[in-house]
Amino acid sequence: MIGIVAVSHSARLGEAALELALQMVHVDAPPVRVAAGAGSDGDGKPILGTDAMAVAAAIDDLAAECDGVLVLMDLGSAVMSAELALEFRTSDVPVRLAPAPFVEGLLAAVVAAAAGGALDAVAEEAAVALAGKTAQLQPTAPVEAVPEERDQDKAAPPGRESARITRRVRVRNPLGIHARPAALIAETSAGADVRLRRLPDGPDASAGSLSRLLVLGARRGDEIELSAADDHVLDALAALFENGFGEGVDDAPAGAGPASDEPVSATERSAPAAPASAAPAPAAPAALAPAPVPPGTTLRGRGVSAGVAAAPVVTLAPPVPEPDAAAVIAVGGRETEASSIDRACLAVAADLRSRAAAASGDAHDILEASALLASDPDLIADATALVRDAGRSAARAIWEVAAAQQKALEALGGRTAERVADVRDVRDRIVAEILGLASPGVPQRDEPFVLVARDLSPADTAALHGGRCVALVTEQGGPTSHTAIIARSLGLPAVVGVIGATGLSPDTTVLVDGDRGTVEVDPEPARIDAATRAAVVTPFNGTGRLADGSRLPLLANVGGAADAETAAAAGAEGIGLFRTEFCFLDRTDAPTVAEQVAAYRGVLSAFPGRKVVVRTLDAGSDKPLPFANADDEQNPALGVRGLRIARRSPQLLDDQLRALAEAASAESALVEVMAPMVASADEARDFAARARGFGLERVGVMIETPSAALLAAEMFEVVDFVSLGTNDLAQYTLAADRLLGELGDLNDPWQPAVLRLIGMVGSAGRAANRAVGVCGEAGGDPTLAPVLMGLGVTSLSMTPRSLGRVAAALAAVTPEQCRRVAGAASAAATAAEARSAAAAALER
Ligand code: PEP
Ligand code: MG
Repeated sequence: MIGIVAVSHSARLGEAALELALQMVHVDAPPVRVAAGAGSDGDGKPILGTDAMAVAAAIDDLAAECDGVLVLMDLGSAVMSAELALEFRTSDVPVRLAPAPFVEGLLAAVVAAAAGGALDAVAEEAAVALAGKTAQLQPTAPVEAVPEERDQDKAAPPGRESARITRRVRVRNPLGIHARPAALIAETSAGADVRLRRLPDGPDASAGSLSRLLVLGARRGDEIELSAADDHVLDALAALFENGFGEGVDDAPAGAGPASDEPVSATERSAPAAPASAAPAPAAPAALAPAPVPPGTTLRGRGVSAGVAAAPVVTLAPPVPEPDAAAVIAVGGRETEASSIDRACLAVAADLRSRAAAASGDAHDILEASALLASDPDLIADATALVRDAGRSAARAIWEVAAAQQKALEALGGRTAERVADVRDVRDRIVAEILGLASPGVPQRDEPFVLVARDLSPADTAALHGGRCVALVTEQGGPTSHTAIIARSLGLPAVVGVIGATGLSPDTTVLVDGDRGTVEVDPEPARIDAATRAAVVTPFNGTGRLADGSRLPLLANVGGAADAETAAAAGAEGIGLFRTEFCFLDRTDAPTVAEQVAAYRGVLSAFPGRKVVVRTLDAGSDKPLPFANADDEQNPALGVRGLRIARRSPQLLDDQLRALAEAASAESALVEVMAPMVASADEARDFAARARGFGLERVGVMIETPSAALLAAEMFEVVDFVSLGTNDLAQYTLAADRLLGELGDLNDPWQPAVLRLIGMVGSAGRAANRAVGVCGEAGGDPTLAPVLMGLGVTSLSMTPRSLGRVAAALAAVTPEQCRRVAGAASAAATAAEARSAAAAALER
């Protein structure tokens, strides 16, 4: 049977509601616990409030005898206590929090549970418990209202009985209600009591609450019900929705939009030069002090903003300590305590606003959004209620309300979950203000510095504008985090996901390479010189040649149209790798053929008459796409990724090939198509047949697995070319996760085992007279270029910034020298010996 917990601010209300509910069942009433009130004061008078620990205890109490527990809550902080209780409980019985009216919901749930309903059914009954009352009191209310219809309030939230006007609008901007639209809604509604509800049964939010607006989870195509007492404010809001909040409109089918929080351009999606990655970096355990990083170490992460810089490390101010959960404010002191919440929130909001006024672009918008979070009326009201009702300290109350907001955002996943950092940042600022601590954030310096942090808040990153910070290094964060977005917009080299970065001592000099995703600790001055010189982009004249004039085409790696334009401007001879999955990283649903055609044409049109090698979706592992990958694989790098997705979803591959063929026939680029993550000759044969069936003539496969390399001769019997994905080839050959910085020495294309596999592929290519490209990061390494050429590689593809340097390295060697260095390097026993053997062979 299902048990029920009734959470109320008032013990009397809880007991009375239960008494009423139990009247409805005469036999086998379900077990119900009332978790209500916050104890009693010195005079024995009950204190109104809710207590998460009491709710957790009630759940645990039911766990022994129930298959599931439904929790009903009255208002405000009751919801928060119930959410926190889920963290505190010790049992693992399934629990649902019911978004239901307290009294009616309790009645309905008790009846449904008594009838033996399962947890979902009981929850459903509770959720629709108001329907009878609504139908009785508003018999004329239409069941389905048409867009833009106005009528009297049919669905005012409980306790809002005054006459209200409702309006239905549709979310039309591609990214849904993310931070900026939410801020616009809040601003437009200022001073009016406006609520929004995602239809048909989504959550409800006050327009003044940025966090609640985000929690709506409203996506492109969703219908929203606006309600207010004032028609004018609804007009203004409807106009905002109508023009897509200034972000463009796209009338997609309901639910088709991505769950996203920041508009991300194609360039932003494809972190320059870094191995593509959308997976969050593993977090260092928060409780452990970071290990000190010795000089000479190279830490690795993901380069998300290009460039090289060296400077001493500066770390962020120490984090704000968690306020004491056990402290209870005496009843007489609660009003004074509560008043500090309002004061602190307003002070923090004012500070953020004045910093926003001094900033521009993304930085301005993010600081403004943070200011709105700090002055969020729901945050202030809920925290104040916790002080008044439960005797929490003001700092603790803010901490707990923020925890509930973070949890709600995390539950939404995707980029909305990245906003957790925004909420945490604002929480820390308010708590610091209440406790009189130094505000967390970036210290002011007069000398250049590299900012190192576990994670950077958007407000911290935005504050770097115009300062002396020359590069960013974080332990956490991904390519679409605010840190990455702002670092790119400020032109600061940035590396994220650097495990161990917080172990760097302040003032240690580090060399940050945002292209390669490396952080070198205390490097020699000569190394800094060389790296900064190398970072200066060497121009490329558009033709890759060796010293004797023989050709080695130099191509570019791109992730979308914007990258392709950059590549064309940099003189790339063509595209050697178009990572098509980068076009769709923010999609929860598969792109249509028409959408794909548009995306592919954007790249092809930048290279008229030139070669463009398009890779079919390489989703999975470090680049999971919700519409292509299962999210429950134990070993995603060894799982259904790349071409293997077609085993489960052949239509996805067919649609892509169809779209590519259509794009190719509309543009003059010379399109070639290749499949990623191929392991067997059968896979290669099937892929080639399929691609040719759509009229794509030049078909290839990537060599990324040792199996594919060993079978290169067989591959050439069925495909026209191959391209070496050296990032994965190293990962799979050395059995070392390419995202793990601590295994960076193994993930090295100079490893002789990798060089020998490349050599095997090169020999097979020569024998079959077929093209052998390299499109992994190794393709952009000028010192490796002669080795690759000598191993039989016929073209190199790289980030456009590397073209000039690779061209210069090749122009200095003859084919004979290339063969010599290749032989020396691949005969070595270790990566280090391979490097020095190649250098020595070049001297001869
Ligand atoms: C590679 O593995 O080398 C490659 C080019 O593919 P990706 O980095 O996109 O996995
Ligand atoms: Mg790969």
